[in-house]
Amino acid sequence: MPAEPPGEGGPNEAGTRPPAKPCPVCGKPADPKKLPFCSSRCRDVDLNRWLSGRYVIPGRDTDPEDAE
Ligand SMILES: [Zn+2]
Repeated sequence: MPAEPPGEGGPNEAGTRPPAKPCPVCGKPADPKKLPFCSSRCRDVDLNRWLSGRYVIPGRDTDPEDAE
């Protein structure tokens, strides 16, 4: 019967731990398949923020040629 090592974390620990990166939208651990978000829902939320102009890039909207 093999003696157990004095628990300093075996090779198992790295495999079972969730990724350290939290979802930028809700703060839950991100899903490795949907990084950097935890779900496609949160990805949509982030996308919506973009579309609603929260992250608008300054200097692209004001085109004098576009005036009526
Ligand atoms: Zn999330």
